[in-house]
Amino acid sequence: MKVVYTNENSFLVNNIKNIIEAQEIEVFIKNEYAQGAVGEIAAFDSWPQLWVVNDADYDRAMELVNSPLNSEDNIEWHCQGCAEVNDSSFEVCWNCQREKA
Ligand SMILES: [Zn+2]
Repeated sequence: MKVVYTNENSFLVNNIKNIIEAQEIEVFIKNEYAQGAVGEIAAFDSWPQLWVVNDADYDRAMELVNSPLNSEDNIEWHCQGCAEVNDSSFEVCWNCQREKA
């Protein structure tokens, strides 16, 4: 088992978990409820950690963690032909097939 992701924010850890699970990779979260009590500062090693069960899945899981889909590059773009909004994964406008500028 290996850690693929850890973050102070368990919402983000759960988000990555969902993305990886969608690829049928078995993962689990450690420390999800181990955050410090109110008033304490959570130590780094008590952050929620996302683990892959099978080491063989580690590389694929890391690719998903580092995927552009999870970064701020994932922004919609506006077609210069018809002004429709397109998902960042589209290379051409869904409406008029004009190429992404
Ligand atoms: Zn268009």
